[in-house]
Amino acid sequence: MSIPILSYPEARNYIAGEFQQNGSRSMPVISPLDGSTISSVILSDKEILDKAVQAAARAFKKWSSLTLKERVQIFFRFRALLEEHKEELANLVRIENGKTYEEAEAEVLKGIELSEFACSLPQIITDEVQEVSKGVECRTSHIPMGIVASITPFNFPFMVPLWTIPNALALGNCMILKPSEQVPLSAQKIAGLLKEAGLPDGVFNIINGDKEIVEAICAHPDIHAVTFVGSTRVAGIVYRQATSHLKRALCLGGAKNHLIVLPDANPEMSAANIAASMSGCAGQRCMAASAMVAVGKTDHIIQQICEEARRIVPGKNLGSVISKEAKERIERYITEAEAAGAKVLVDGRNVVVPDKEGGFYVGPTVIDHVKPEMNIAKEEVFGPVLAIMRTDDVDEAIRIENSSNYGNASSVFTENGGLAQYVTERVSAGMVGVNIGVPVPREPFPFGGWNESRFGVGDITGKSSIPFWTQLKKTTTKWNPEAWTDWTT
Ligand code: NAD
Repeated sequence: MSIPILSYPEARNYIAGEFQQNGSRSMPVISPLDGSTISSVILSDKEILDKAVQAAARAFKKWSSLTLKERVQIFFRFRALLEEHKEELANLVRIENGKTYEEAEAEVLKGIELSEFACSLPQIITDEVQEVSKGVECRTSHIPMGIVASITPFNFPFMVPLWTIPNALALGNCMILKPSEQVPLSAQKIAGLLKEAGLPDGVFNIINGDKEIVEAICAHPDIHAVTFVGSTRVAGIVYRQATSHLKRALCLGGAKNHLIVLPDANPEMSAANIAASMSGCAGQRCMAASAMVAVGKTDHIIQQICEEARRIVPGKNLGSVISKEAKERIERYITEAEAAGAKVLVDGRNVVVPDKEGGFYVGPTVIDHVKPEMNIAKEEVFGPVLAIMRTDDVDEAIRIENSSNYGNASSVFTENGGLAQYVTERVSAGMVGVNIGVPVPREPFPFGGWNESRFGVGDITGKSSIPFWTQLKKTTTKWNPEAWTDWTT
């Protein structure tokens, strides 16, 4: 589908229900599809953050006093608005991020599912009450944290903000969102639709910016909890900064996801899944297949993966990577691996898409005979590249997976249930699959990795996010006189 690239108004801050132009710096927003400038984004000075926090603080009292059932009514309406604006949103995601229309549409559908989950919170959080001694009752209640912040990456400009916004707000918090400055436009639309859904001003705010504003968020005394999604390096920085200011923090980082492929795997199904996983969203998914460990006689499956990869065409069913720097980084990894002795079976370097010569494209790339000590085997490449390592031993394959510093996802491909269980029990990743290239848990199951793919406790979505966005109040009540004789007198 060919869709013209449009120009968009500057991405502004959104404070107390108003879009505002407050920042002394700005930078261009570039569509990676063709390298054209489509908008600009304000890089806020850190003083502006205080305005947003004050707006959130003013809104918090009333918003947090509503019942959960009242608050989720906003998200029923928001969900309906997302449906209504699905096509427009998908185009926006496609243009600012560079993914294909189909991928962008899938991202919007996932955002709808995340909003649905927030609507179900009153059915999930029923709290507990028990008569703990005669006439004495204990009850728990989930109390919002207060003002919270969400810092998001470039690769899912719509979905990742919605990992946090619906749940955090439905649970009674007010939020400051700091979107990626590379893709700030989808968040502007989210703000507009939340307002249209009836969200009171100040409950949701956007501060655009870079490192400076993230540091200010981590240090601000009135922000009580911070989530971050992005690279492991920055996740570590943000986690340390936020917790050093005694905030609750959950920081999701990068990934190096291993697929373990056994010789009995169904070749067609496995190859289709693996090729789609490594190339979907141009390999810029924290759940993308990046390293494959082929166990034993798997040449026929590798051959099939190459055939699948050759059917993936940049500019058609493969989108762009985010920037020129990203393209150069990815190609550097491929060239380094080749120089170190790996064999490039399908080569995606030096791709130019006709009529989009200014775009940032890397074709699907399959590299065989990669050694575990090579950089391409250990580091996050974040492009449509599959690095294949060979072994004859399933325990060695598990050892290679376990040696990764990351731990977002891992999958095993086999027709043998016992072996599948053996592998899934031993891999060191938070999200594990059997015969599935992208083992993303769907709502209500939560999303979150292990090891250096996540700093902090718990997951960012689903039921596991509830303890992050709330604190538990335990109330003990005694009304009847006979209880005076009890132990709690
Ligand atoms: P990034 O770490 O460069 O940026 C993420 C956010 O941090 C942005 O909002 C950015 O403005 C801010 N930032 C950048 N440098 C900073 C610094 N020095 N100090 C403070 N803030 C800073 O990540 P990205 O390139 O936007 O996104 C890609 C990365 O995100 C990949 O590593 C990918 O694996 C990861 N990711 C992880 C998950 C997950 O669930 N684990 C999900 C999506 C993306």
